[in-house]
Amino acid sequence: MKPLYVRVHPRDNVAIIVNAEGLAAGTVFDSGLRLREAIPQSHKVALSGIEQGAPVVRYGEVIGLATRAIEAGDWVREEMLALPQPPPLDELPLATATPPPLPPLEGHTFAGYRNADGSVGTKNILGITTTVQCVAPTVEFAVRRIKAELLPRYPNVDDVVAITHTYGCGVAIDAPGAAVPIRTIRNISTHANLGGWPLVVSLGCEKMQPQRLFPAPSGASLPVLDGEPHVVRMQDADLKGFGSIVGSIMRYAEQRLEELNRRQRVECPASDLVVGLQCGGSDAFSGVTCNPAVGYAADLLVRAGATVMFSEVTEVRDAVHLLTPRAATPDVGRDLIREMRWYDDYLARGSADRSANPTPGNKRGGLSNVVEKALGSVAKAGTSALAAVTAPGERVTSRGLIFAATPASDFICGTEQLAAGMNLHIFTTGEGSPYGLALSPVIKVSSRTALAERWHDLIDVDAGRIATGEATIEDIGWELFHLMLDVASGRKQTWADHWGLHNALAPFNPGPVT
Ligand code: CA
Repeated sequence: MKPLYVRVHPRDNVAIIVNAEGLAAGTVFDSGLRLREAIPQSHKVALSGIEQGAPVVRYGEVIGLATRAIEAGDWVREEMLALPQPPPLDELPLATATPPPLPPLEGHTFAGYRNADGSVGTKNILGITTTVQCVAPTVEFAVRRIKAELLPRYPNVDDVVAITHTYGCGVAIDAPGAAVPIRTIRNISTHANLGGWPLVVSLGCEKMQPQRLFPAPSGASLPVLDGEPHVVRMQDADLKGFGSIVGSIMRYAEQRLEELNRRQRVECPASDLVVGLQCGGSDAFSGVTCNPAVGYAADLLVRAGATVMFSEVTEVRDAVHLLTPRAATPDVGRDLIREMRWYDDYLARGSADRSANPTPGNKRGGLSNVVEKALGSVAKAGTSALAAVTAPGERVTSRGLIFAATPASDFICGTEQLAAGMNLHIFTTGEGSPYGLALSPVIKVSSRTALAERWHDLIDVDAGRIATGEATIEDIGWELFHLMLDVASGRKQTWADHWGLHNALAPFNPGPVT
């Protein structure tokens, strides 16, 4: 393979090396550029001389200021870039360049489980909610027995999942931050893939009582418990011994399995998909291969009338000036700024800032800082208007492109996107992650072919073919779109589901622990 680099934007003065083994000092490109030193794959080469203090430009945006003079052909490394200031939040243009509606895309369907509230499941799962971590091992014990003894009699039910978490007690439950984990667990417990009212296991003495998780109706559209029989309280006087407790959970589980087994897949329009987008273990290729391909697929979903959400506040913060002009209305732009400001304050309370984001793996993959990471990350959001913004753990009710605010941490973001109503998850990765979720299928897309080949039984789609010219962004975007419909229909299985790789739920808790 001849020496190749990828320059994203005509203004860029750096590009990334494509060749899998990297390139040696003295390598000459077709453009005439000669490498002054060896550069690994996905790391940056200077395309022209950059003076000390001058901007280093990638994606047509400033990703840093040169800390020393850089020559054309130099390897531009992390320590050669000073982090620029983040875009100031009070000077952002609001809805000044709202994209016109994309042409509708009709006729695409999938086979899903339609629920009474109009939501559609992509799986048919019995979920058992817990109000506190103390009961998690008991529920997991019961789930093992339910799977072995009951589930085989209910062939239409895909799985039994213990909805466990570290929340519920030992927390300041009246602190403002507590609203986030509580609504997260509530909304996950009523997820479309669980097909109805939750079965709840409580200890009895915990702070997050079942009534707190599912308040009585007050005119608000909160889900409510359908009477007492759905709650098992371990400390209740009539439950005598562990066998009696597990037996009680299993009896209620069997009732729910009877109901769930009657659910049938029916043809649903693609507009019933609620797709969550996320990246994890990103590298410098993510922003030129997998994330733009996912962005193309996001536009297809928006055209089909579906809901598609991107998240990860710290990976949007440095690109927020590219997003507020795209807001559908000034109010949506202000909502986006509200979430950015909330997170700036949250990080400041912990004596941190956005520079805490990139990981050693991101840096090994050629990403110098959070600005470069963010510019690559927002490519997932495609080109459509930003239709709405939600706070962490809130259920998304709008269609189109949504920013659902979450931390960037993979397993916390995935948990919060489940709460937002995600029934299908797209996860892009450069360094590789075995990530998966029990409650929703996770399609994993690699930024580089080398990863897709090494992890041939973990990566579902190889977007690295875009860098080598074997496929276009449009090709991979359509491939993803069709795969989403197949996976949502249960016709194809993701590798994460094949191996049963399901990460623990991790609700975001910005509140204090006592
Ligand atoms: Ca992430």
